[in-house]
This record gives sequence, structure tokens and C-alpha cells, in this order.
Amino acid sequence: MSKKAQINAVRGMNDILPQDSRLWLRVESICAAVFARHSYQQIRTPIIESTSLFSRSIGEETDIVSKEMYTFEDRNGDSLTLRPEGTASTVRAGIENSLFYNQQQRLWYTGPMFRHERPQKGRYRQFHQIGVECYGWSSPDIEAEVLSLTRQLFDELGLEKTELQINSLGDKSARASYRESLVAYLSQHKDQLDEDSVRRLTTNPLRILDSKNQTVQELLVDAPSILDFLNEASRQHFETLQQHLIDLDISFVINPRLVRGLDYYNDTVFEWVNADFGAQSTVCGGGRYDSMVEQLGGHATPGFGFGMGLERLIQILQEQGASIALEQKTLDVFIVSVGEAARRQALVVQSLLTRSGLSVQCHMGEGSMKNQFKRADKSGAAVAVIIGEQEAANNSASVKLLRVRPDSGETANQQPIIAQNDVVNAVTNLLESL
Ligand code: ATP
Ligand code: MG
Repeated sequence: MSKKAQINAVRGMNDILPQDSRLWLRVESICAAVFARHSYQQIRTPIIESTSLFSRSIGEETDIVSKEMYTFEDRNGDSLTLRPEGTASTVRAGIENSLFYNQQQRLWYTGPMFRHERPQKGRYRQFHQIGVECYGWSSPDIEAEVLSLTRQLFDELGLEKTELQINSLGDKSARASYRESLVAYLSQHKDQLDEDSVRRLTTNPLRILDSKNQTVQELLVDAPSILDFLNEASRQHFETLQQHLIDLDISFVINPRLVRGLDYYNDTVFEWVNADFGAQSTVCGGGRYDSMVEQLGGHATPGFGFGMGLERLIQILQEQGASIALEQKTLDVFIVSVGEAARRQALVVQSLLTRSGLSVQCHMGEGSMKNQFKRADKSGAAVAVIIGEQEAANNSASVKLLRVRPDSGETANQQPIIAQNDVVNAVTNLLESL
């Protein structure tokens, strides 16, 4: 008989397997806890949006909108897009549900994002972001709060060697003057620009600063700096942010070539970069976007936020051998049962134990006592609860230590027979004695 063809995952889209999903859950729960402590509330938006949401906010000339979006027509002929990032959706939801009307908001979100990029380490076609967005504050203190909570998050995760880079893009007119000066400089060196950069010279020259091309990057070392084009208000804003960072003991470097891959930013932009991670070194990036809410049809409302790539974050934690990545799965109890009556009771005992907060595996189906003990040992459980045929006959069980601390001088010993109603107590006492 011919074997059926196997169907694999779509290129650039990954399964997160059991060996990694525990770390994912841990990272997500630490993020949620740090956000909650800072009074951020979660927002959940659909994965699919109208295509125009992204073209209007992210910018037609960005890599994302010009070549990376998963766009399709649905059965009604509407143009829809799998979201490539989380900010536009958050703004759309905020306007639609009047979250910005006379209110300030501290929000966070998480979920899959989709970009048709060339898959490589740290760069996938479905990836996950966790992000924060704040609305209604134009001053740099909110920026410092966001950077401070991010630093706190990295510290709690045990992430090392991640450096903060900041820059200011000023206001519209600063960017316009800077654009002229950058174009003048780059036009003199047009022969050294790659095809993409030559095109951007006329469409969106600031994007060239974001180029991953080595020759272009070298050329940019002597390019004019946007910081020389800021007006007094932007300069003051950027100075104050730096003062907050110093107060908070958060070290940073100013990178005047940092522009970020989206068009909507003004004034402060930032990235957390981990140099050990090569070309995909940016773990987290964001900035201020004061015109987006208005751009998408709302009342003018300042915004500030970031998106963090969870695949990159988790890979770095694993490569650094962070203790959070090394935590082992723990199982408290394995229940061994022999015979039909014992099997029924085993499920009841498992329910009692799990309700008391313990993690429990119950042997399923038939199996010799010897085989079940082998599985119990392999499971890593600390304690076995045994319900044999005799125990089943009078609703009792015995409890046995499976792992003994090497230096304790104890031997794994069989405990006396106890009533099944007392199993929770007996197991808890045994676990405490470890
Ligand atoms: P890059 O310059 O690496 O392409 P970006 O500027 O496109 O990043 P953002 O749009 O700001 O990135 O997204 C924020 C974060 O999301 C990035 O810093 C990164 O950690 C993560 N990220 C972005 N694109 C991908 C991807 N294709 N695969 C995995 N993670 C990604
Ligand atoms: Mg990108």
C-alpha cells in the first residue's frame, strides 16, 4: 500500500514544541506580571485587518507594506491582511471603541504576526510579538517608564548583554530638512548604493539608514546626523529622557542612525540590541508616534510603544543558558494502580491531589506493577501513590518516595497503608520532607 504524502508546516512558520513551550509560557507570564505591576492592561485584537489599516499607518514605502504583507481577497472581494505588527491594530481598536476620548491608556498585547521575509535564524514568516502601547502622553516621562519596565523585564528574565540604543527623529520639519541633507550626501556616492537604496533615495531616503547592506552602512558613517536638525522642543525632550534614564540607572547609547523600519515615528525611537545575535540583533524596538491616531481617523492623540520579538528573546535566553531556560519540568506524583477498581479510584485520587495544587500523572490502562514503577521512575515524579488490588478493596493506598536527596542518608521507603482520603496530607508531608 502506498504511503500518504506528508504535509509540512508552511515555510517560515514554526511549531513551538513541548520542549520549548514551557519556556514560552514562563516568559509570557513574567511579561504579563511586569506589565500588570506597572498598571498596563491587555488588549486583544483580530489577527486579520483591512489592508488599508496597514498601508495608511505603516507607510507604503516601508519593506513591510511594499513587499512583506500576507494580503488576500476574502470571499466578498475585500482586501484583508494578516497583521504584520501590533500597533496599527491597537490604534484602530482604540479609535473604534473610544479608548482615547478624554482618557489615557497603558496597554499591552501579544500574538502572532506575519511577514513574508526570507526565513533565517531569528527571522520567520510567522513570529510572535509582545508589545506595549501608551496613549495620551506627550512628555518623555512615559517613555522612561516604558524603558524602565523593559529593563526590569529583562532583569527578571535573566537576559544578559542587551544594550539600549536611543535616537530622536524630531518633528516633521526636522525630518524634511534632514532628508534634503541626507539625499545630497548620498547622491554624491550613488555608485556605492545598492539597488534598494537607490530606489529609496527618491521614495523614502531615511529608510536607507535602516539598510542591512554592509557597503551602505559604511557609507553612512560619515552621513549627516539627524540630531543636528532637531528644533529646541525636540532637543529638550530628548535631553529630559536621557536625564530620566540616568536617574533610573539604565545605561544607553545614542545611535543617530537608528530610524526603525516603520514610517510612523517622531521624536524618540529606541531599540534593545543583543550584539551576540548577529544580523537579527534587535530584540525589541519602538518609539513615539504622535500622528498615527489622527492619521487613522481619530482625535489627535500622542502614542508611544514597542514591539518585542519573542522568538529572538527566547533563542537568546536559551543560548545564554539563562536559568529560566534551564528550569526542569517537575512532577510531584505518579499514581500506580492495578486492577479495574483501583483504576477508577486512581482518577479520583488524582483529582484530589491536583485540586490541592500538586502536579500528578496517573497511569492509564492496564500494566504490571513492575512496568508502572519503571514509568514512575522515568516520569521524574518525587512520590508514587500505589493502589493495588488489596488497597482498592478498602479504599486505601500507600505512598512511596521515588527520589531521595543523595546526602540525606535516607532510603526510599514504603509508607504504611493509609486511607485514600488522607493521601493529600501524606504526599504533602513527604514532599516537605525532601
Ligand atoms: P528587523 O530590522 O530585524 O527586520 P524590524 O525593524 O522589522 O526588525 P519591528 O517591526 O520593529 O522590527 O518589530 C519589532 C521586533 O519584532 C523586532 O525587533 C524583532 O525582535 C521582531 N521581529 C520583526 N520581524 C521579525 C521576523 N520576521 N521574525 C522574527 N522576529 C521578528
Ligand atoms: Mg524587518
